[in-house]
Amino acid sequence: MIEQLIRPHLRKFQPYRSARSETRAGDIFLDANELSLGSTVSFNGVALNRYPDPLQEELREKLAQRLAVPQEMLFAGSGSDEVIDLLVRLFCEPGSESVAIFEPTYGIYRVAANVNNVSVISIQLDENFQIRPLRSFETLTRSAKLVFLCSPNNPTGNVLRRDDILRLCDAARGIIILDHAYVEFAPPLSDCTRDVMDHENLVVLRTLSKAWGLAGIRLGYCVAHPDVVSHLLRIKEPYNINAMTSHCALAALDRPDFCRDSVEAIKKERTRLAARLAQLPQVVRVYPSEANFLLVEFKDAASVFDTLARKGIIVRRRHEVRLTSCLRITVGIPCENDILLSTIAEAV
Ligand code: PMP
Repeated sequence: MIEQLIRPHLRKFQPYRSARSETRAGDIFLDANELSLGSTVSFNGVALNRYPDPLQEELREKLAQRLAVPQEMLFAGSGSDEVIDLLVRLFCEPGSESVAIFEPTYGIYRVAANVNNVSVISIQLDENFQIRPLRSFETLTRSAKLVFLCSPNNPTGNVLRRDDILRLCDAARGIIILDHAYVEFAPPLSDCTRDVMDHENLVVLRTLSKAWGLAGIRLGYCVAHPDVVSHLLRIKEPYNINAMTSHCALAALDRPDFCRDSVEAIKKERTRLAARLAQLPQVVRVYPSEANFLLVEFKDAASVFDTLARKGIIVRRRHEVRLTSCLRITVGIPCENDILLSTIAEAV
């Protein structure tokens, strides 16, 4: 089924074969026009004069082991943003096909579709930011080649119902992309990563940018059916994950305690910050959050935003109709949150 969903010209496409994809065993590498002398800078013993492994075998194997899925179901990208763009390019014919998104949600899905000249079917989430079990739901998803779901959703912070996600997988004609960027901060039952094992049209996006504290290295990945992964490997840029990124990611994955402790600390602080914000007269409501940020509705969001900005505190403002009175605030460390709270308290 996957094969038929892939853009026809990419089904039999001949990928670029980089020097190291032929053979990596050897002692003297004279195949890739690297500088044999070495490099001017060094990074933790990583051979920066050499091209990295185009198939990222070690990294993908380690990620696969953590999630207890086969390596053939793992694809790594320069952030999940790269994976999103590649998925649109792999499945959607520019000018004729479409993706569906449930809004308000993460803006890159729409941007990736626009860049690729793929149209966007926008469906509004309900008043609790859940998928509406609409009658039109099946029609819409049947006509979309890709359906993007985000859980916990950015910027609303809630998780989507697992039943809705799996029902969508069954109803959809195309691929369901479930973005789990913030899933580590959410209750374990909302994690659908392993559902990929029995839903071949489900692709789950994960990232090291959030709970793992590694936004700077740019490493995201997806867990998907092996046919999706093998096609993504063929269309990606040959060396999309650089050697420093792989090195840092491998080292981080050996320290799951850091991720676990950070998640616990942020969740605790999220509870405290939400409670304190809710007491401020400027605040209308704090939406419940299962992520590392809070969506907060203010009486006058624009003025709070300006007050914060004047004090050098940067939060996120969204311009969609339903969110004009809201700000999205990342949970910081306690002293940052205290300054945020006192600055808002002083705003008129
Ligand atoms: N998905 C969601 C829902 C996000 O909020 C973000 C980053 N803001 C991303 C993906 C992108 O993550 P990455 O850093 O892995 O590209």
